[in-house]
Amino acid sequence: MDVPSNNLVIGRGEANRRLRLADRFLPTTNPLTLITMPPAQPILGAAFLSGDVGTEQALAVSRFADDARCLADNGRITATKARELEEALTREAARTGTPAFLLTNRVWFLVSVARISRRSAMSVSTHPNGNLSRESRDASLKYLRATTEPGKELDILVVGGGVVGAGSALDAVTRGLNVGLVEANDWAAGTSSRSSKLIHGGLRYLEMLDFALVQEALQERGLLIQRIAPHLVRPVPFLYPLTKRWVERPYVGAGIMLYDTLGLTSGNSRGVPMHKHLSHKGTMRAAPSLKDDAMIGSIRYYDAQVDDARLVANVMRTAASFGAHVVNQTKVIDFLREGERVVGAKVQNQEDGTEFEIRAKQVINATGVWTDETQALVTDRGQLKVRASKGIHLVVPRDRFQSTVGLILRTEKSVLFVIPWGRHWIIGTTDTDWKLDKAHPAASSADIDYLLGHVNKVLKRPLSREDVEGVYAGLRPLLAGENDSTAKLSREHVVAHPVPGLVVVAGGKFTTYRVMGKDAVDEAARALDEKVPESCTETIPLLGATGFKAAWNRRNRTADESGVHVARVEHLLNRYGSLTQEVLDLMAESPELAEPLPGADDYLAAEVVYATTHEGALHLNDVLTRRTRISIEAWDRGVSAAPVAARLMGDVLGWSDTQRDNEIANYLARVEAERLSQQQPDDVTADAARIGAPGIVPLT
Ligand SMILES: Cc1cc2nc3c(=O)[nH]c(=O)nc-3n(C[C@H](O)[C@H](O)[C@H](O)COP(=O)(O)OP(=O)(O)OC[C@H]3O[C@@H](n4cnc5c(N)ncnc54)[C@H](O)[C@@H]3O)c2cc1C
Repeated sequence: MDVPSNNLVIGRGEANRRLRLADRFLPTTNPLTLITMPPAQPILGAAFLSGDVGTEQALAVSRFADDARCLADNGRITATKARELEEALTREAARTGTPAFLLTNRVWFLVSVARISRRSAMSVSTHPNGNLSRESRDASLKYLRATTEPGKELDILVVGGGVVGAGSALDAVTRGLNVGLVEANDWAAGTSSRSSKLIHGGLRYLEMLDFALVQEALQERGLLIQRIAPHLVRPVPFLYPLTKRWVERPYVGAGIMLYDTLGLTSGNSRGVPMHKHLSHKGTMRAAPSLKDDAMIGSIRYYDAQVDDARLVANVMRTAASFGAHVVNQTKVIDFLREGERVVGAKVQNQEDGTEFEIRAKQVINATGVWTDETQALVTDRGQLKVRASKGIHLVVPRDRFQSTVGLILRTEKSVLFVIPWGRHWIIGTTDTDWKLDKAHPAASSADIDYLLGHVNKVLKRPLSREDVEGVYAGLRPLLAGENDSTAKLSREHVVAHPVPGLVVVAGGKFTTYRVMGKDAVDEAARALDEKVPESCTETIPLLGATGFKAAWNRRNRTADESGVHVARVEHLLNRYGSLTQEVLDLMAESPELAEPLPGADDYLAAEVVYATTHEGALHLNDVLTRRTRISIEAWDRGVSAAPVAARLMGDVLGWSDTQRDNEIANYLARVEAERLSQQQPDDVTADAARIGAPGIVPLT
């Protein structure tokens, strides 16, 4: 191995034993404490201080002797497992653009060195540390523009910044490919911020005997809870109320037993507790607000939930931290062709209207319910047909009824969930064909009444319109089949290669985004000249996941040190994981950022700033709707938070007074249009009311 010279202090004592091992592979002048490298190639080193994989303390020392820092100590890298350290180190290497070495006493030392070196040889990230700021977006745009120069084309361009596009970008970039991603709107602005927010196998697919689909999703659930996103994905208990004596309990019980077993046999430990049968009395204890005669007993089982929009932003940041060049508000308006072959895309920057070309060896189209439109830019044959099915949800305050668990209720077409969501309940969903405006699906009065009617069948004190804090509607991207009923269409995904250079991935569920990304990249990789490594996203925790448990365990100390109440620290940990300190640092620098937002007490001013500096928020809507969920959780839907949030964002983004006023006016118009649409009797009138509000306000 060709290792250069410049001083790097690695560690003392126990670590030196590892260094002697390292010394067999890395030429050093002093095997005990010093490795030499040339100044031209600064190097990042890391060593385990003790023992085997488990609870070792990791010590990562930065490049030069004089600025050696213990990255583990100052929070830049925290890891409790060898693999976590390796991954954190890889990210650091991608961020700094330096080669990285992991020194351990383990057999896989050489493997790690090879793997990390390969990954860190990737293009230097235009988003240092995975931070998505206005500046890093500009840098990515510049990078993408330059792909038309000879030899600079991307390996893969992903179109669509929902969960599937983000998952595809992360999968591709962690295989060592040079990746770009363009999203027409904000991250997750389509379906991926409007789901039921469940990470689940889907009990009802068991009834459809779709075992493979359920097992795959449960495997992903286990991975997400335990490794990939433990800071964002959490177990949640549900009651399945039983209404018929004798037959129903064994039938449903067998189904839920199978559900739990499929979770167990999925290859990952399940990450959620096993189900339990409850008597009528036990059910009433768990959910005292249920009508006495609404059930004869129940079964309690566990699934998981996530803030969908936050997960997408987090996957996107993680992809960026590995070197993916990701830009929002950039829409594909055409594909570049050489004969039959797709060789890139023509895009329009929605912020200033400029158009430019991006060249790529393969394009992955992950545009959800827009698949038909984007695919039609290329070909009208061999198309995947994606059909949109609307589902709406209501948000009501948690105190409107008492229950320690969520509910799953059968409806004539499908199932209805009542899901605990912080200080709220989410109730949903509907399932109806939708052929109107895809960007702003509207919930009608009929949709809202349908949900209230169903949930009120089991509640002692019925909910009314006055109890509804928020409403949102989303469109399922279903692969179109022969069957007319959207509730019965498959949730499985499909990957197609309709013309050379273009891969299309569609269908599926939020839960299986990682598998969809992997399958899409597998297909694209087959067409690349080089041999592409296998997917490794199964082993990659998202930003904020590594060290989350340790950060959670020390939350009381964090609260003491920062002066922020422990309940707030917990709220932050559940949103930012081990990156919470970055948000706390903002408050330490500017104490006014520790203030909650007006009308949206759960969220702090610092979160608005962080969304803008680190999570790619460009517009007020992005912050109030997706980085936070103020638009559905606050009684006034964010109207009183809007001016404060706009001021905070404007200070970061350099908005003029006019721009700031436009952003506020735009947001208020949207809230008004949504309220109006929700009073309309049906889809057509609701849609007409909703599309009255304008889109984004360009930044120039
Ligand atoms: C009501 C409802 C409830 C659901 N509940 C669950 C659940 O609980 N659990 C679960 O696992 N799944 C659930 N799902 C399914 C899940 O939400 C979707 O399968 C998933 O979010 C789809 O992600 P996507 O990336 O394919 O699409 P999207 O999130 O829609 O992303 C596509 C993106 O492409 C962008 N785009 C479109 N055209 C262009 C262009 N020309 N250029 C650039 N970008 C473009 C769009 O702006 C959009 O952001 C639910 C869906 C709905 C509607």
